[in-house]
Amino acid sequence: MDLPDDHPTPDAANPSDPYNRPAQTYPHLSDSMIARAMPFGTLLAATAGTLLFARGEKYSDFFVVLSGAVEILHHDELGAAHVLTVHGPREFTGELDLLSGARNLVTARVRVDASVLRIDRTSFIGLSSAEPDIGEIVMRALILRRMGFVEHGQAGVVLVGGQQMSDMLRLRRFLIRNNYPHRVLDVDAESGALQLLHALDLSPRELPAVIAPGLPPLRNPTLAALSDALGLTENVDESEVQDVTIVGAGPAGLATAVYAASEGLRTLVIEGLAPGGQAGTSSRIENYLGFPTGISGHALASRAQVQAQKFGVNLLISRVALGLERDGQAFVIVLDDGRQVVTRSVVVATGARYRRLELADYARFEGQGIHYAATPMEAQLCCEQQVIVVGGGNSAGQAAVYLSRRARHVHMVVRGRSLAETMSDYLVQRIGRSPTITLHTRTEIAGLSGDGSLTRVTCRNRDSGETRDHDVCNLFVMIGAEPNTAWLGGRVLTDAHGFVCTGSEGTGRLRASAYETSLPGIFAVGDVRAGSVKRVGAAIGEGAAVVAQIHKYLESLAEPAQA
Ligand SMILES: Cc1cc2nc3c(=O)[nH]c(=O)nc-3n(C[C@H](O)[C@H](O)[C@H](O)COP(=O)(O)OP(=O)(O)OC[C@H]3O[C@@H](n4cnc5c(N)ncnc54)[C@H](O)[C@@H]3O)c2cc1C
Repeated sequence: MDLPDDHPTPDAANPSDPYNRPAQTYPHLSDSMIARAMPFGTLLAATAGTLLFARGEKYSDFFVVLSGAVEILHHDELGAAHVLTVHGPREFTGELDLLSGARNLVTARVRVDASVLRIDRTSFIGLSSAEPDIGEIVMRALILRRMGFVEHGQAGVVLVGGQQMSDMLRLRRFLIRNNYPHRVLDVDAESGALQLLHALDLSPRELPAVIAPGLPPLRNPTLAALSDALGLTENVDESEVQDVTIVGAGPAGLATAVYAASEGLRTLVIEGLAPGGQAGTSSRIENYLGFPTGISGHALASRAQVQAQKFGVNLLISRVALGLERDGQAFVIVLDDGRQVVTRSVVVATGARYRRLELADYARFEGQGIHYAATPMEAQLCCEQQVIVVGGGNSAGQAAVYLSRRARHVHMVVRGRSLAETMSDYLVQRIGRSPTITLHTRTEIAGLSGDGSLTRVTCRNRDSGETRDHDVCNLFVMIGAEPNTAWLGGRVLTDAHGFVCTGSEGTGRLRASAYETSLPGIFAVGDVRAGSVKRVGAAIGEGAAVVAQIHKYLESLAEPAQA
């Protein structure tokens, strides 16, 4: 007897809940699709109770149910399993970890004696590109299923601690940026949290803690430790030589990775935090071609990551490149965990990092009220409160407009006389029309205070010298960025501001390649490059263009030296 399919209940009030789109989240393959998928796998008859894959394992196979039923289980913080969904005939298992190679979030178990088509991960990637109509349906479902987990906090981890703890924000930011489902159990507000602390023998000093089913609690872990425990980082074989290693997974790095891998290059990406870079922190990018209603930087980055992984890119998440050495015709990149990557070419796509204000006590309030991005997480912290946004560029303007929907009032602080010269006109107009945003021109931040976290910001008028205190707990500092080039140790030429020189400009030599640095074999793209436009579209374009130049460079290595 076949059980009917059974899928998670959607939030009817939320039209963007993926569970409201069952035909796409849990699609059925047609007879013709199943027939075309057959040569990629093997048939398996499995009795009820057989495990197809388990939470925590890596590199699981992909299963199409031909008859019978397969249930997908997720586990709560105490390890108890719950049925999340039941796949019936023509449906298939899997979500994003199938592509990423990260540890499985869920377990698949045969519920009713079943016949399934089993396809291993390599053949699954082959099927997706050989049969694009099947690939499209499956890929969309994998993305929607992960979005469903994230939206409902299912199948992931539980963070226990205070909502406003700076380490809690650090861990949450990391999980959100990496699309990892999680729930927060607030020790100050939820009675169940204390019971859990007791059950897991956790003391308040060890918070925030991450509770992952099947693992011992992680007590205020570093991002690298968390990433390793959750299996977000892929293993890299140190003896393997990469054709190209890209450092930085912002738009420029991800675009380079997609084009390089799709053109057959063995491609590795090293990313210190999470895919998306600065763009990943943008609430809405409205000027990127092809998205007339705008797209959040996070959504753009997540799609790009899936696309890169579909083409076989290896992603090392939460690993920082610390140094670069030449080794004969190859390069060696040294990582912060001591490992080394050997590669025939390097693309520097490390972008830029936020500038800080020169103020006493500034460092004390970082993570305790000072923010550099305005995403849904920060907006939630500012709900019905007054906030200050510092900066006159587009990122500050976007943040002010976005936050004004949740905050009681947004004060924009700029040193200049107007926004006209530094911000796009559409944002200037929106800010001018908003009743909940006040623009303070010729103003700067003069002081910060608070006991523990930020509670008061002092602003000073630059003409009159007059100061004014604002009772605000959240200050958004968006005053531009500096290039992330320290790790290059001066091995390539940079301009006076530290941006990497490429092409003929600044490298002192006539170079055929517009993106090659002063050291042949090392290329630079995106915001880190001297003279770059500092836009998502430009970063992606440079990532696409540099791959042709890498091919030429690699071909030149293969040519015998001229006599
Ligand atoms: C809030 C905000 C809003 C924006 N809005 C828009 C917009 O609407 N439209 C637009 O066109 N542009 C916008 N921009 C600009 C746009 O985001 C950038 O131009 C773009 O992200 C640059 O891409 P990139 O890949 O060159 O560098 P980045 O995005 O800076 O990415 C660099 C990556 O490298 C990683 N990295 C750095 N050093 C190392 C290391 N040593 N080892 C490993 N990894 C490392 C970083 O973690 C980061 O992920 C916005 C920027 C911000 C901050």
